[in-house]
Amino acid sequence: MSTPELFIGGERIPGAGSLHPVVNPATEETVLQLAQADSAQARRAVAAARAAFDEGPWPRLGADERAAVLHRIADHLEARHDELTASCVRELGQPVTGARGAVATAIEMWRRYADLARTLPRQEDREVDARRTARVLRVPVGVVLAITPWNSPLLLASLKIAPALAVGCTVVLKPASEGPLTFGPLGEAAEAAGLPPGALGIVYADPATTAGMVADADVDLVSFTGSSAVGAEVLRGAAPNITRSILELGGKSASIVLDDAEPAEFVSGVVAAAGVNLCGQQCTSRSRIIVPRSRHAEWVAALKDALAALRVGDPTDPATQVGPLATARQRDRVEAYVRSGREQGARLVLGGGRPAHLPTGWFVEPTLFDEVTPDMRIAREEIFGPVLTVFVHDGVDDAIRIANDSEYGLAGSVWTADVARGYEVALRIRTGTFQINTTGRAIDQPAGGMKRSGLGREGGVEGMEAFLELRQIQVPLGAELP
Ligand code: NAD
Repeated sequence: MSTPELFIGGERIPGAGSLHPVVNPATEETVLQLAQADSAQARRAVAAARAAFDEGPWPRLGADERAAVLHRIADHLEARHDELTASCVRELGQPVTGARGAVATAIEMWRRYADLARTLPRQEDREVDARRTARVLRVPVGVVLAITPWNSPLLLASLKIAPALAVGCTVVLKPASEGPLTFGPLGEAAEAAGLPPGALGIVYADPATTAGMVADADVDLVSFTGSSAVGAEVLRGAAPNITRSILELGGKSASIVLDDAEPAEFVSGVVAAAGVNLCGQQCTSRSRIIVPRSRHAEWVAALKDALAALRVGDPTDPATQVGPLATARQRDRVEAYVRSGREQGARLVLGGGRPAHLPTGWFVEPTLFDEVTPDMRIAREEIFGPVLTVFVHDGVDDAIRIANDSEYGLAGSVWTADVARGYEVALRIRTGTFQINTTGRAIDQPAGGMKRSGLGREGGVEGMEAFLELRQIQVPLGAELP
């Protein structure tokens, strides 16, 4: 494994700023001390992206030429699939089977966006009136600062960088310092694929240095994925320069179970939708399970059995379903929420502690709380851990009211024998994504949050269009345009 370095203007450079330890969450061994950028290096990365956008070849290439480079990046990543998977397991503790899938999805994004950009219409001539024609152009927005969290590093970064590069933007990526191991190979892939210097920069940085990058007038758009609290800071930091901002933030999503849903048929889906394969560290985790009063005991029993059957342990073992939490801080946070749930009167049905057979690593048992009421902290705040909370509803209207009673609006699910009934529920829920009897990411569709879960959308054509800006150029009617 090569030591992750900064990637600025096409060169690999050691960070001159503070050190950040990268620790294997399953073994608690320090993998490396990551040397982050100082503010001068962060500035240089943005300046290099600015120069690559203003003067470099990348925005001026045809979509087909850019697509060819992106496909080559995907090829290089594909050739290192095993190494990238091992890195996700090592830095994040994600079970290897899920990590392999996440890397595959990340690689697929480079290919999909390369191809999508080829077919995206970029100009249209329109008659304005009897005297004029307007050419409406969709131009790349410019320099993109992509800030990403640790919970799925390569996938969440690719979701921003691939579409931004595909339409001709240049990008500085600022990933979370907890999970840097896949970005050395990404920089190498970009170089080997012939991406011009400066078109992609990779910079690890502490919060203050990152805030300086957000405020940098050379950044045209900030695309941020992370917590709502930091997202609000990013929006404030972007305000003075009116820097465009896309925010993909936290969630507190719900699974609504209707009275016609059989536990035997749907419980595995409900548990999967809670994001257990990432130990609950998934923004779209449906951790609030809203079950019908008439079948309450049945569902609590089914959820308890399903969670108890999960195999928790060594993330390098392909049979493992739940690994450790990604950081010691995250485990402290989850344990604090478990304590608060007990103190505020929720009934602990399962888990809540550290698994006895795993004395090393930041493991927390899959945990189930019942008798959760809306005023409790575990009902309202994002836990980001393997903690499911059960609420009881008295019919569809009540279930919808409970689901919508959240400051977040990222995702949600309904489980029912009748999809048409589920669709009626879907229309009344205020979230960006909603699923009926199904799970999993749809990478070609626009995803994002309502309310405090975000601003703008990522994914698919709409996600790519977010990296374009509209212009109009008017000429006298009948004038020839190239
Ligand atoms: P975080 O908000 O702490 O950090 C996210 C990123 O912001 C990191 O790169 C971090 O270094 C950087 N950062 C920290 N302080 C900053 C500042 N002052 N200015 C600018 N950048 C700063 O989030 P996290 O703990 O890394 O990730 C977990 C959160 O991310 C959860 O809330 C989760 O729901 C959310 N998330 C959302 C989505 C989505 O698509 N909506 C996807 C994954 C994760």
